[in-house]
Amino acid sequence: MSGQASPDPPPDGPTEEDLLARAAAQGIHRLAIPTPFMVGRVNAYLIEDSPLTLVDSGPNSGKALDELEQALAARGHAIEDIELLVITHQHIDHFGLASILARRSGAEVAALEGLVPYLGHFREAAELDDRFAEQMMLLHGIPADVVTALRAVSASFRAWGAAVEVTRPLRDGEELRLRDRTLRVLHRPGHSPSDTVLYDDRSEIGQHSIMLAADHLIKHISSNPLIARPLDAAPDFTGPRSQALVDYIASLERTRAMELSLVLPGHGEPIDDHVALIDKRLRLHERRAKKIHSLIAAEPRTAHEIAVELWGNIAVTQAYLTLSEVLGHVDLLLADHSVIERKSNGVVRFHTA
Ligand SMILES: [Zn+2]
Repeated sequence: MSGQASPDPPPDGPTEEDLLARAAAQGIHRLAIPTPFMVGRVNAYLIEDSPLTLVDSGPNSGKALDELEQALAARGHAIEDIELLVITHQHIDHFGLASILARRSGAEVAALEGLVPYLGHFREAAELDDRFAEQMMLLHGIPADVVTALRAVSASFRAWGAAVEVTRPLRDGEELRLRDRTLRVLHRPGHSPSDTVLYDDRSEIGQHSIMLAADHLIKHISSNPLIARPLDAAPDFTGPRSQALVDYIASLERTRAMELSLVLPGHGEPIDDHVALIDKRLRLHERRAKKIHSLIAAEPRTAHEIAVELWGNIAVTQAYLTLSEVLGHVDLLLADHSVIERKSNGVVRFHTA
């Protein structure tokens, strides 16, 4: 085309549509499914291969099921056609619909082997998670009324999840062979203990190497490294708490070292420069650890007091997220011995060493 001057400046780089088209050219299609959560839509990915594969399901709701059916239909498929469903991690916005999809389609359900008991007994596991979270919140200075309110919120969200039987347990490093590709399964804990990414390396045949990253790496938000019960914890587990941010940083560094042309995340847009984004996240965590260190140096504080200093008045629903965020950074400071923790009257305060 010529003769028509465009009023728009040339774009900096590929648009979201360009990147989705790159994935689609390799048979991977984003299906953005609605959720009732603050995060907004969750990305499931349809891999048109044999077996016909869906990565994540969306939450257990009629609206999610309806939109998923429409998105599949737009590509000429029905739920009954799904042959393999891969679950990326233990959060209900990603797997809630899995049992319904598996029942209707007869699909194999694949997930990290350590996650199998959790998914198979979701209600009990979620209850144990809540009990653990409650202990952590009280230990780290969140007021009891906020803890009670948050437990009620969490219980009310539980119906968006549902237990699902995993028929194909996956191991870290294993290959999932489809007709036209081999997906390498990589465990990348941090955001949750079970984060699993899939690596579709086509570079040898001149195509893109793509990572389906779920919540391990998201472009528009920094993934919360949530303090969680370890997958193999006993029911009465009380600690020591998981080192979610320490694990997360190690996982990010492993992903950073990979050659990737495209990362397809669990929320939002595709990422075409994972190294720059990971470097940005690593700098953020470094800055935040420094800031938290300076707050602790000014006076000994609980993790919740630090969160209030950083973010002001915290909504009830955000109390555990912000606590996790602070504890993650405190773990970095504990690891380099620049802070210590002291417990008195059942509450932990952090001091400079
Ligand atoms: Zn998640």
